Amino acid sequence: MPEVRTRFAPSPTGFLHIGGLRTALYEFLWARKNNGKFILRIEDTDVKRTVPGSLENIVQTLKDFRLNFDEGPILQSQRLDIYFKHAQELIDKGHAYHCFCAPERLDQLRKQQQENKQPPKYDKHCLKLSKDETEAKLRANEPHVIRMNVPAGQRISFADVIHGQISVSSDDLDDQVLLKSDGFPTYHLAATVDDHLMGITHVIRGEEWVPSAPKHILLYSFFGWPLPQFVHLPLLLSKTRKKLSKREGDVAVKDFLEQGYLPEALLNFVALLGWNPKTEQEIFNLRELTEEFSLDKLNKAGAVFDPEKLDWLNGVYIRSLKVEDLFARISPYLIRAGFELEKYPKEFLLRILLLEQARLKKLSEIGERVKYFFSDPAYDPEMLRWKKVDNRQLSESLEIAKKIIINCQFPISKEEIQNAFFAEIGDKDKGAILWPLRVALTGLEASPGPFEIMDAFAVLPNGKEIILKRLNTAIEKLFQS
Ligand code: GLU
Repeated sequence: MPEVRTRFAPSPTGFLHIGGLRTALYEFLWARKNNGKFILRIEDTDVKRTVPGSLENIVQTLKDFRLNFDEGPILQSQRLDIYFKHAQELIDKGHAYHCFCAPERLDQLRKQQQENKQPPKYDKHCLKLSKDETEAKLRANEPHVIRMNVPAGQRISFADVIHGQISVSSDDLDDQVLLKSDGFPTYHLAATVDDHLMGITHVIRGEEWVPSAPKHILLYSFFGWPLPQFVHLPLLLSKTRKKLSKREGDVAVKDFLEQGYLPEALLNFVALLGWNPKTEQEIFNLRELTEEFSLDKLNKAGAVFDPEKLDWLNGVYIRSLKVEDLFARISPYLIRAGFELEKYPKEFLLRILLLEQARLKKLSEIGERVKYFFSDPAYDPEMLRWKKVDNRQLSESLEIAKKIIINCQFPISKEEIQNAFFAEIGDKDKGAILWPLRVALTGLEASPGPFEIMDAFAVLPNGKEIILKRLNTAIEKLFQS
Protein backbone atom coordinates (compact mmCIF):
# COMPACT_ATOMS: atom_id res chain seq x y z
CA MET A 1 0.00 0.00 0.00
CA PRO A 2 1.42 3.41 -0.93
CA GLU A 3 1.50 6.09 1.75
CA VAL A 4 -1.88 7.83 2.00
CA ARG A 5 -1.48 11.45 0.92
CA THR A 6 -4.30 13.96 0.94
CA ARG A 7 -4.33 17.60 0.06
CA PHE A 8 -6.42 20.61 0.96
CA ALA A 9 -6.32 22.87 -2.09
CA PRO A 10 -8.24 26.08 -1.46
CA SER A 11 -8.17 29.06 -3.78
CA PRO A 12 -7.19 32.17 -1.83
CA THR A 13 -10.27 34.10 -2.82
CA GLY A 14 -11.53 35.12 0.61
CA PHE A 15 -12.00 33.84 4.11
CA LEU A 16 -12.13 30.10 4.60
CA HIS A 17 -15.74 28.99 4.79
CA ILE A 18 -17.46 26.16 6.59
CA GLY A 19 -17.40 23.89 3.53
CA GLY A 20 -13.66 24.40 3.20
CA LEU A 21 -13.15 23.61 6.85
CA ARG A 22 -15.07 20.36 6.46
CA THR A 23 -13.01 19.35 3.41
CA ALA A 24 -9.79 20.16 5.25
CA LEU A 25 -10.94 18.21 8.30
CA TYR A 26 -11.80 15.06 6.36
CA GLU A 27 -8.52 15.21 4.47
CA PHE A 28 -6.63 15.71 7.68
CA LEU A 29 -8.47 12.85 9.39
CA TRP A 30 -7.94 10.44 6.53
CA ALA A 31 -4.24 11.19 6.39
CA ARG A 32 -3.82 10.88 10.18
CA LYS A 33 -5.88 7.72 10.39
CA ASN A 34 -3.60 6.07 7.84
CA ASN A 35 -0.36 7.53 9.18
CA GLY A 36 -0.13 9.41 5.94
CA LYS A 37 0.54 13.00 4.97
CA PHE A 38 -1.74 16.01 4.77
CA ILE A 39 -0.64 18.69 2.32
CA LEU A 40 -1.76 22.30 2.03
CA ARG A 41 -1.72 23.53 -1.55
CA ILE A 42 -2.80 27.04 -2.42
CA GLU A 43 -4.47 27.24 -5.81
CA ASP A 44 -3.66 30.84 -6.63
CA THR A 45 -3.74 30.64 -10.39
CA ASP A 46 -6.60 33.04 -10.90
CA VAL A 47 -4.79 36.29 -10.30
CA LYS A 48 -7.92 38.43 -10.61
CA ARG A 49 -9.77 36.50 -7.91
CA THR A 50 -6.92 36.29 -5.44
CA VAL A 51 -7.71 38.30 -2.30
CA PRO A 52 -4.78 39.57 -0.24
CA GLY A 53 -4.74 38.08 3.24
CA SER A 54 -6.61 34.90 2.29
CA LEU A 55 -3.50 32.74 2.44
CA GLU A 56 -2.79 33.95 5.98
CA ASN A 57 -6.42 33.38 6.94
CA ILE A 58 -6.37 29.81 5.61
CA VAL A 59 -3.13 28.96 7.42
CA GLN A 60 -4.31 30.60 10.65
CA THR A 61 -7.69 28.86 10.52
CA LEU A 62 -6.10 25.44 10.08
CA LYS A 63 -3.88 26.26 13.06
CA ASP A 64 -6.86 27.40 15.16
CA PHE A 65 -8.43 23.99 14.57
CA ARG A 66 -5.17 22.09 15.04
CA LEU A 67 -5.38 20.67 11.53
CA ASN A 68 -1.63 20.70 11.13
CA PHE A 69 -0.36 20.10 7.65
CA ASP A 70 2.79 18.09 6.94
CA GLU A 71 3.77 19.84 3.73
CA GLY A 72 3.06 23.32 2.45
CA PRO A 73 1.66 25.75 1.95
CA ILE A 74 2.71 25.05 -1.63
CA LEU A 75 1.77 27.93 -3.92
CA GLN A 76 0.82 27.04 -7.47
CA SER A 77 1.80 30.52 -8.65
CA GLN A 78 5.39 29.48 -7.96
CA ARG A 79 5.20 26.42 -10.15
CA LEU A 80 4.23 27.97 -13.49
CA ASP A 81 7.13 26.36 -15.35
CA ILE A 82 5.90 22.92 -14.30
CA TYR A 83 2.43 23.48 -15.73
CA PHE A 84 3.88 25.01 -18.89
CA LYS A 85 6.09 21.97 -19.39
CA HIS A 86 3.14 19.62 -18.96
CA ALA A 87 0.94 21.63 -21.31
CA GLN A 88 3.73 21.43 -23.87
CA GLU A 89 3.97 17.68 -23.38
CA LEU A 90 0.26 17.37 -24.18
CA ILE A 91 0.73 19.47 -27.33
CA ASP A 92 3.59 17.20 -28.41
CA LYS A 93 1.35 14.16 -27.93
CA GLY A 94 -1.53 15.75 -29.85
CA HIS A 95 -3.73 16.02 -26.73
CA ALA A 96 -3.66 19.81 -26.63
CA TYR A 97 -3.29 22.70 -29.07
CA HIS A 98 -2.71 26.41 -29.24
CA CYS A 99 -5.80 28.53 -29.71
CA PHE A 100 -5.53 32.11 -30.95
CA CYS A 101 -9.24 32.92 -31.12
CA ALA A 102 -10.09 36.42 -30.00
CA PRO A 103 -12.69 36.89 -27.27
CA GLU A 104 -15.03 38.46 -29.85
CA ARG A 105 -15.03 35.30 -31.94
CA LEU A 106 -15.67 33.14 -28.85
CA ASP A 107 -18.57 35.43 -27.84
CA GLN A 108 -20.04 35.20 -31.30
CA LEU A 109 -19.73 31.42 -31.26
CA ARG A 110 -21.43 31.19 -27.87
CA LYS A 111 -24.30 33.39 -29.01
CA GLN A 112 -24.87 31.28 -32.08
CA GLN A 113 -24.87 28.12 -30.01
CA GLN A 114 -27.32 29.67 -27.60
CA GLU A 115 -29.65 30.58 -30.43
CA ASN A 116 -29.45 27.04 -31.78
CA LYS A 117 -30.05 25.68 -28.27
CA GLN A 118 -26.68 23.94 -28.33
CA PRO A 119 -24.41 23.64 -25.28
CA PRO A 120 -21.57 26.19 -25.39
CA LYS A 121 -18.44 24.50 -26.73
CA TYR A 122 -15.33 25.59 -28.52
CA ASP A 123 -15.48 24.48 -32.17
CA LYS A 124 -11.83 23.33 -32.47
CA HIS A 125 -11.28 26.13 -34.98
CA CYS A 126 -7.55 26.46 -34.17
CA LEU A 127 -6.96 22.72 -34.28
CA LYS A 128 -7.18 23.10 -38.05
CA LEU A 129 -4.14 25.41 -38.15
CA SER A 130 -1.07 23.81 -39.67
CA LYS A 131 2.10 23.49 -37.66
CA ASP A 132 3.68 26.31 -39.69
CA GLU A 133 0.70 28.60 -39.21
CA THR A 134 0.76 28.01 -35.48
CA GLU A 135 4.47 28.62 -35.25
CA ALA A 136 4.22 31.83 -37.24
CA LYS A 137 1.54 33.12 -34.88
CA LEU A 138 3.59 32.18 -31.85
CA ARG A 139 6.63 33.95 -33.29
CA ALA A 140 4.47 37.02 -33.88
CA ASN A 141 3.52 36.87 -30.18
CA GLU A 142 -0.18 36.57 -30.88
CA PRO A 143 -2.13 36.15 -27.67
CA HIS A 144 -3.15 32.55 -27.23
CA VAL A 145 -4.24 29.86 -24.82
CA ILE A 146 -3.60 26.12 -24.80
CA ARG A 147 -6.69 23.94 -25.02
CA MET A 148 -7.22 20.33 -24.31
CA ASN A 149 -8.09 18.27 -27.38
CA VAL A 150 -11.08 16.28 -26.17
CA PRO A 151 -11.57 13.22 -28.40
CA ALA A 152 -15.05 12.60 -29.85
CA GLY A 153 -17.28 9.70 -28.92
CA GLN A 154 -15.47 8.35 -25.87
CA ARG A 155 -16.98 7.16 -22.62
CA ILE A 156 -15.16 8.63 -19.65
CA SER A 157 -15.74 6.74 -16.41
CA PHE A 158 -14.35 6.78 -12.94
CA ALA A 159 -15.31 5.37 -9.57
CA ASP A 160 -16.12 7.85 -6.83
CA VAL A 161 -15.83 6.55 -3.29
CA ILE A 162 -19.17 8.09 -2.31
CA HIS A 163 -21.11 8.24 -5.57
CA GLY A 164 -19.93 5.03 -7.21
CA GLN A 165 -19.37 4.80 -10.95
CA ILE A 166 -19.70 8.12 -12.77
CA SER A 167 -19.67 8.10 -16.53
CA VAL A 168 -20.04 10.83 -19.16
CA SER A 169 -19.61 11.07 -22.91
CA SER A 170 -16.59 13.03 -24.09
CA ASP A 171 -18.96 14.72 -26.55
CA ASP A 172 -20.37 16.63 -23.60
CA LEU A 173 -16.97 18.07 -22.69
CA ASP A 174 -15.57 21.31 -23.95
CA ASP A 175 -12.01 21.72 -25.18
CA GLN A 176 -11.10 23.15 -21.80
CA VAL A 177 -8.45 25.86 -21.62
CA LEU A 178 -5.44 24.44 -19.79
CA LEU A 179 -3.04 27.35 -19.99
CA LYS A 180 -4.32 30.91 -20.12
CA SER A 181 -2.92 33.77 -22.18
CA ASP A 182 -1.25 35.19 -19.06
CA GLY A 183 0.82 32.00 -18.76
CA PHE A 184 -1.11 30.78 -15.71
CA PRO A 185 -2.63 27.33 -15.82
CA THR A 186 -6.34 26.82 -15.24
CA TYR A 187 -7.44 24.92 -12.17
CA HIS A 188 -7.95 21.73 -14.20
CA LEU A 189 -4.38 21.47 -15.45
CA ALA A 190 -2.71 22.68 -12.27
CA ALA A 191 -4.74 20.50 -9.90
CA THR A 192 -4.27 17.36 -12.01
CA VAL A 193 -0.56 17.84 -12.51
CA ASP A 194 -0.03 18.63 -8.83
CA ASP A 195 -2.17 15.78 -7.57
CA HIS A 196 0.01 13.44 -9.59
CA LEU A 197 3.38 15.02 -8.82
CA MET A 198 2.55 15.31 -5.12
CA GLY A 199 1.56 11.66 -4.97
CA ILE A 200 -1.97 12.40 -3.80
CA THR A 201 -3.78 9.11 -3.22
CA HIS A 202 -7.18 10.54 -2.23
CA VAL A 203 -8.70 13.62 -3.81
CA ILE A 204 -11.32 14.71 -1.28
CA ARG A 205 -13.37 17.77 -2.24
CA GLY A 206 -16.87 19.14 -2.56
CA GLU A 207 -19.48 17.66 -4.85
CA GLU A 208 -19.48 20.84 -6.93
CA TRP A 209 -16.32 19.50 -8.56
CA VAL A 210 -17.95 16.35 -9.96
CA PRO A 211 -18.60 17.98 -13.37
CA SER A 212 -14.87 18.82 -13.61
CA ALA A 213 -13.68 15.34 -12.74
CA PRO A 214 -14.12 13.81 -16.25
CA LYS A 215 -11.78 16.47 -17.65
CA HIS A 216 -9.25 15.48 -15.05
CA ILE A 217 -9.71 11.79 -15.84
CA LEU A 218 -8.95 12.56 -19.48
CA LEU A 219 -5.82 14.44 -18.48
CA TYR A 220 -4.64 11.48 -16.38
CA SER A 221 -5.12 9.22 -19.37
CA PHE A 222 -3.32 11.67 -21.73
CA PHE A 223 -0.33 11.67 -19.40
CA GLY A 224 -0.58 7.92 -18.77
CA TRP A 225 -0.87 8.41 -14.99
CA PRO A 226 -2.75 6.16 -12.56
CA LEU A 227 -5.91 7.63 -11.01
CA PRO A 228 -6.15 8.62 -7.35
CA GLN A 229 -9.31 7.80 -5.44
CA PHE A 230 -11.96 10.47 -5.83
CA VAL A 231 -14.16 11.40 -2.89
CA HIS A 232 -16.75 14.07 -3.66
CA LEU A 233 -18.34 15.26 -0.43
CA PRO A 234 -22.08 15.96 -0.21
CA LEU A 235 -23.25 19.54 -0.61
CA LEU A 236 -23.85 21.65 2.47
CA LEU A 237 -27.44 22.82 2.59
CA SER A 238 -29.19 25.45 4.64
CA LYS A 239 -32.28 24.51 6.65
CA THR A 240 -34.38 25.55 3.66
CA ARG A 241 -32.38 22.95 1.71
CA LYS A 242 -30.71 25.53 -0.48
CA LYS A 243 -27.00 25.39 -1.12
CA LEU A 244 -25.33 27.03 1.87
CA SER A 245 -24.27 30.51 0.87
CA LYS A 246 -23.50 33.90 2.30
CA ARG A 247 -27.08 34.92 1.56
CA GLU A 248 -28.34 32.16 3.85
CA GLY A 249 -26.27 33.44 6.77
CA ASP A 250 -22.70 33.22 7.92
CA VAL A 251 -20.42 30.87 6.08
CA ALA A 252 -16.95 32.22 6.91
CA VAL A 253 -15.27 30.27 9.68
CA LYS A 254 -13.89 33.53 11.04
CA ASP A 255 -17.44 34.83 11.62
CA PHE A 256 -18.36 31.76 13.65
CA LEU A 257 -15.24 32.10 15.78
CA GLU A 258 -15.93 35.78 16.34
CA GLN A 259 -19.45 34.99 17.51
CA GLY A 260 -17.92 32.81 20.16
CA TYR A 261 -18.30 29.31 18.84
CA LEU A 262 -15.42 27.31 20.28
CA PRO A 263 -13.12 25.78 17.65
CA GLU A 264 -13.57 22.33 19.24
CA ALA A 265 -17.36 22.62 19.01
CA LEU A 266 -17.34 23.96 15.48
CA LEU A 267 -15.02 21.20 14.35
CA ASN A 268 -17.19 18.56 16.01
CA PHE A 269 -20.24 20.06 14.32
CA VAL A 270 -18.59 20.24 10.90
CA ALA A 271 -17.37 16.64 11.23
CA LEU A 272 -20.98 15.50 11.42
CA LEU A 273 -21.97 17.35 8.23
CA GLY A 274 -21.79 14.45 5.84
CA TRP A 275 -20.10 11.88 8.03
CA ASN A 276 -22.18 9.53 10.12
CA PRO A 277 -20.40 7.66 12.91
CA LYS A 278 -23.25 5.10 12.86
CA THR A 279 -23.47 5.18 16.66
CA GLU A 280 -25.32 7.39 19.15
CA GLN A 281 -22.17 9.31 19.98
CA GLU A 282 -22.31 12.99 19.04
CA ILE A 283 -19.43 14.51 20.93
CA PHE A 284 -16.02 13.87 19.38
CA ASN A 285 -12.69 15.49 19.98
CA LEU A 286 -10.05 15.47 17.28
CA ARG A 287 -8.43 12.30 18.56
CA GLU A 288 -11.74 10.46 18.65
CA LEU A 289 -12.60 11.72 15.20
CA THR A 290 -9.31 10.38 13.90
CA GLU A 291 -10.06 6.99 15.41
CA GLU A 292 -13.63 6.78 14.17
CA PHE A 293 -13.43 8.46 10.80
CA SER A 294 -13.71 6.38 7.68
CA LEU A 295 -14.63 7.09 4.09
CA ASP A 296 -17.33 4.45 3.98
CA LYS A 297 -19.32 6.35 6.60
CA LEU A 298 -19.59 9.44 4.39
CA ASN A 299 -23.09 10.27 3.21
CA LYS A 300 -24.23 10.83 -0.31
CA ALA A 301 -27.18 13.10 0.48
CA GLY A 302 -26.67 16.79 1.10
CA ALA A 303 -25.85 17.71 4.69
CA VAL A 304 -28.17 20.21 6.35
CA PHE A 305 -26.48 22.89 8.41
CA ASP A 306 -28.63 23.22 11.52
CA PRO A 307 -27.70 26.34 13.54
CA GLU A 308 -29.67 25.11 16.59
CA LYS A 309 -27.60 21.97 16.70
CA LEU A 310 -24.45 24.04 16.52
CA ASP A 311 -25.68 26.17 19.44
CA TRP A 312 -26.49 23.07 21.45
CA LEU A 313 -23.10 21.52 20.75
CA ASN A 314 -21.31 24.76 21.59
CA GLY A 315 -23.19 24.86 24.90
CA VAL A 316 -22.01 21.34 25.66
CA TYR A 317 -18.39 22.36 25.02
CA ILE A 318 -18.74 25.60 27.00
CA ARG A 319 -20.07 23.65 30.00
CA SER A 320 -17.13 21.26 29.81
CA LEU A 321 -14.56 24.06 30.18
CA LYS A 322 -12.83 24.77 33.46
CA VAL A 323 -14.00 28.20 34.57
CA GLU A 324 -10.44 29.60 34.31
CA ASP A 325 -10.30 28.44 30.69
CA LEU A 326 -13.72 29.93 30.02
CA PHE A 327 -12.50 33.18 31.56
CA ALA A 328 -9.47 33.26 29.27
CA ARG A 329 -11.60 32.68 26.20
CA ILE A 330 -14.45 34.99 27.12
CA SER A 331 -12.45 37.99 28.39
CA PRO A 332 -12.24 39.60 24.94
CA TYR A 333 -16.04 39.54 24.76
CA LEU A 334 -16.39 41.08 28.21
CA ILE A 335 -13.93 43.80 27.26
CA ARG A 336 -15.75 44.36 23.96
CA ALA A 337 -18.98 44.79 25.97
CA GLY A 338 -17.26 47.71 27.71
CA PHE A 339 -16.61 46.18 31.13
CA GLU A 340 -13.38 47.33 32.73
CA LEU A 341 -12.26 43.96 33.99
CA GLU A 342 -9.12 45.26 35.68
CA LYS A 343 -11.32 47.09 38.19
CA TYR A 344 -12.81 43.89 39.58
CA PRO A 345 -11.40 41.04 41.64
CA LYS A 346 -10.84 37.91 39.55
CA GLU A 347 -12.99 35.94 41.98
CA PHE A 348 -15.97 38.18 41.18
CA LEU A 349 -15.55 37.58 37.45
CA LEU A 350 -15.18 33.83 37.93
CA ARG A 351 -18.34 33.65 40.04
CA ILE A 352 -20.26 35.50 37.35
CA LEU A 353 -19.00 33.07 34.74
CA LEU A 354 -19.89 30.08 36.87
CA LEU A 355 -23.43 31.42 37.00
CA GLU A 356 -23.70 31.80 33.26
CA GLN A 357 -21.70 28.82 32.10
CA ALA A 358 -24.65 26.45 32.22
CA ARG A 359 -26.83 28.57 29.98
CA LEU A 360 -24.40 30.12 27.56
CA LYS A 361 -24.69 29.04 23.92
CA LYS A 362 -22.01 31.27 22.49
CA LEU A 363 -19.38 33.46 24.08
CA SER A 364 -20.65 36.65 22.43
CA GLU A 365 -23.89 36.45 24.47
CA ILE A 366 -22.03 37.14 27.68
CA GLY A 367 -22.13 40.95 27.59
CA GLU A 368 -25.92 41.14 27.44
CA ARG A 369 -26.33 38.43 30.04
CA VAL A 370 -24.10 39.85 32.76
CA LYS A 371 -24.22 43.61 32.20
CA TYR A 372 -26.20 44.09 35.43
CA PHE A 373 -23.13 43.04 37.37
CA PHE A 374 -21.22 46.00 35.98
CA SER A 375 -23.81 48.76 35.93
CA ASP A 376 -27.19 49.46 37.49
CA PRO A 377 -29.97 47.97 35.39
CA ALA A 378 -32.69 49.98 33.71
CA TYR A 379 -36.10 48.32 33.64
CA ASP A 380 -39.81 48.92 33.68
CA PRO A 381 -41.10 48.85 37.29
CA GLU A 382 -43.95 46.58 36.13
CA MET A 383 -41.36 43.83 35.93
CA LEU A 384 -41.09 43.90 39.71
CA ARG A 385 -44.68 42.80 40.09
CA TRP A 386 -45.13 39.34 41.53
CA LYS A 387 -48.48 37.84 40.56
CA LYS A 388 -51.12 40.52 41.11
CA VAL A 389 -49.80 42.20 44.26
CA ASP A 390 -50.12 45.97 44.48
CA ASN A 391 -47.30 48.50 44.73
CA ARG A 392 -47.66 48.84 48.48
CA GLN A 393 -47.18 45.11 49.03
CA LEU A 394 -44.32 45.08 46.54
CA SER A 395 -42.47 47.84 48.30
CA GLU A 396 -43.05 46.07 51.61
CA SER A 397 -41.43 42.96 50.18
CA LEU A 398 -38.46 45.01 48.99
CA GLU A 399 -38.20 46.65 52.43
CA ILE A 400 -38.07 43.20 54.05
CA ALA A 401 -35.28 42.20 51.67
CA LYS A 402 -33.46 45.42 52.49
CA LYS A 403 -33.76 44.83 56.24
CA ILE A 404 -32.36 41.31 55.92
CA ILE A 405 -29.39 42.53 53.86
CA ILE A 406 -28.71 45.39 56.29
CA ASN A 407 -28.54 42.88 59.12
CA CYS A 408 -26.16 40.58 57.22
CA GLN A 409 -22.48 40.77 57.95
CA PHE A 410 -20.53 41.02 54.64
CA PRO A 411 -18.46 39.21 53.30
CA ILE A 412 -20.97 36.45 53.48
CA SER A 413 -21.49 33.03 51.90
CA LYS A 414 -24.42 32.14 49.70
CA GLU A 415 -25.75 29.72 52.34
CA GLU A 416 -25.64 32.39 55.01
CA ILE A 417 -27.62 34.89 52.93
CA GLN A 418 -30.06 32.17 51.97
CA ASN A 419 -30.54 31.14 55.59
CA ALA A 420 -31.07 34.73 56.64
CA PHE A 421 -33.83 35.10 54.06
CA PHE A 422 -35.53 31.80 54.79
CA ALA A 423 -35.51 32.52 58.52
CA GLU A 424 -37.38 35.75 57.81
CA ILE A 425 -39.73 34.48 55.10
CA GLY A 426 -40.79 31.38 57.03
CA ASP A 427 -43.97 29.91 55.56
CA LYS A 428 -44.79 32.99 53.50
CA ASP A 429 -44.83 32.97 49.69
CA LYS A 430 -41.12 32.96 48.77
CA GLY A 431 -41.76 34.37 45.32
CA ALA A 432 -43.36 37.48 46.80
CA ILE A 433 -39.94 38.52 48.13
CA LEU A 434 -37.50 36.76 45.87
CA TRP A 435 -39.04 37.80 42.54
CA PRO A 436 -38.92 41.60 43.11
CA LEU A 437 -35.53 41.19 44.76
CA ARG A 438 -34.15 39.40 41.72
CA VAL A 439 -35.61 41.96 39.30
CA ALA A 440 -34.26 44.82 41.44
CA LEU A 441 -30.80 43.27 41.16
CA THR A 442 -30.86 42.40 37.45
CA GLY A 443 -33.63 44.27 35.65
CA LEU A 444 -34.17 41.05 33.68
CA GLU A 445 -37.10 38.69 33.17
CA ALA A 446 -34.78 35.72 33.40
CA SER A 447 -31.46 35.43 35.21
CA PRO A 448 -29.80 33.29 37.86
CA GLY A 449 -31.49 33.36 41.27
CA PRO A 450 -31.03 36.27 43.72
CA PHE A 451 -28.86 34.26 46.14
CA GLU A 452 -26.37 33.34 43.42
CA ILE A 453 -26.27 36.94 42.26
CA MET A 454 -25.74 38.30 45.78
CA ASP A 455 -23.09 35.65 46.33
CA ALA A 456 -21.12 37.13 43.43
CA PHE A 457 -21.63 40.72 44.66
CA ALA A 458 -20.49 39.64 48.10
CA VAL A 459 -16.95 39.35 46.70
CA LEU A 460 -16.83 43.08 46.02
CA PRO A 461 -15.79 45.40 48.87
CA ASN A 462 -18.89 47.50 48.12
CA GLY A 463 -21.13 44.51 47.33
CA LYS A 464 -23.54 45.19 50.16
CA GLU A 465 -23.95 48.85 49.12
CA ILE A 466 -24.66 47.86 45.52
CA ILE A 467 -27.40 45.47 46.62
CA LEU A 468 -28.98 48.03 48.93
CA LYS A 469 -28.77 50.78 46.35
CA ARG A 470 -30.61 48.63 43.83
CA LEU A 471 -33.32 47.78 46.35
CA ASN A 472 -33.77 51.49 47.09
CA THR A 473 -33.98 52.28 43.41
CA ALA A 474 -36.68 49.62 42.97
CA ILE A 475 -38.71 51.09 45.84
CA GLU A 476 -38.39 54.57 44.38
CA LYS A 477 -39.48 53.31 40.96
CA LEU A 478 -42.64 51.90 42.52
CA PHE A 479 -43.53 55.22 44.02
CA GLN A 480 -42.93 57.02 40.74
CA SER A 481 -45.09 54.64 38.76
N1 GLU B 1 -9.13 25.23 -5.68
C1 GLU B 1 -10.32 24.44 -5.60
C2 GLU B 1 -11.22 25.11 -4.58
O1 GLU B 1 -11.02 26.23 -4.26
C3 GLU B 1 -9.98 23.05 -5.15
C4 GLU B 1 -10.81 21.97 -5.75
C5 GLU B 1 -10.14 20.64 -5.50
O2 GLU B 1 -9.98 20.27 -4.33
O3 GLU B 1 -9.74 19.99 -6.46
O4 GLU B 1 -12.17 24.58 -4.06
